[in-house]
Amino acid sequence: MSVAISNKLSCLLVPSTNVVVFTGAGVSAESGVPTFRGIDGLWNEFNVQELATPQAFASNPVRVWEWYLWRMELISKVDPNAGHRVISWMESFFSEFTLITQNVDGLHDRAGNRHIFKLHGDLWEVRCVRCSKTAKLLTLPPHPLPPACECGGLLRPGVVWFGEMLPEREFSQSVAATEHCQLFFSVGTSAEVYPAAQLPIIAKEKGAYVVEINIERSAFACRADEVLCGKAGEVLPLIQHRCTVPF
Ligand code: NAD
Ligand code: ZN
Repeated sequence: MSVAISNKLSCLLVPSTNVVVFTGAGVSAESGVPTFRGIDGLWNEFNVQELATPQAFASNPVRVWEWYLWRMELISKVDPNAGHRVISWMESFFSEFTLITQNVDGLHDRAGNRHIFKLHGDLWEVRCVRCSKTAKLLTLPPHPLPPACECGGLLRPGVVWFGEMLPEREFSQSVAATEHCQLFFSVGTSAEVYPAAQLPIIAKEKGAYVVEINIERSAFACRADEVLCGKAGEVLPLIQHRCTVPF
C-alpha cells in the first residue's frame, strides 16, 4: 500500500497539536464487525425499520433484542485492531485530544481510550423504557428476552435509533472540540448519517486541517484537505510512525 502523507500533515503530527479523531464503522471492519453501508453492510441484509427504531422495539422487542444479541455475541468474540490501538496511543501523545465515535461496539474502550464521546450510544449499556435507569452490561443480557428492569419496565439497548436525538451533552461537547481543533481525522465513516456527519464540515469551516482515512472516498472527501485511501488499520500506524520519527 502506498499512502503519501503530505508535509503539511507531517508538520501537524507533534504533541502540541490539538487533535480530534472522528470514527465510524470502518475502523472496526478489520476486527470483523460488519459496517452498515457498503458491499457487506448490515443494511443490505436487514430492514432498518424492523430493527433500529423505537417503533420496532415497541411492536416486537424480542425480535429487536435478538438482533442486538447477535451483534453483541459477534463483537464479544473480536478484538480491537491496529487502527483502534493507534487511536488509543494518540490520546496520550497529543496534549489535547478528543475521540468522537459513531460506533457502539465498545472496541475503542477495549483498546484503552479513556475519554470517548459516543454519539450513537453503547451496545454494552441498557436503559429502562419506564424509569430511564441505565446500566452497564458486563455480560450478554440474560434470557428470556427482552430483559426487564427491577421496576418492571423493559430494558432496551442503549443505542441511538433512527429518528432519535443524539445525547445532547456528548454532541455539544463534540462540536466544541471540533471547533477548537487544529487537525481533524475522519476515519472509516461514510459521512452520511446526520447530525454526526456535520462534524467534519464544522472542522473545515473553523479552519482545521481535515484528513479523511477510508478505503473509498466518502460523501465528505471532496471537502477534505487530504484523503488517505486505505484501511484504517494500515494507514493509522503510518501516521503513528510519522509522529514518532521526524521526517
Ligand atoms: P457506514 O457503514 O455508513 O460506513 C462505513 C465506512 O467505512 C465506509 O465509508 C467504508 O468505505 C469505510 N470502511 C470500510 N472498511 C474500512 C477500513 N478497513 N478502513 C477504513 N474505512 C473503511 O458507517 P458509519 O459512517 O459509521 O455510519 C454511521 C452509522 O453506522 C452509525 O450510526 C453507527 O452507529 C453505525 N454502525 C456502527 C457499527 C459499530 O459499532 N461497529 C457498525 C455498523 C454501523
Ligand atoms: Zn426501570
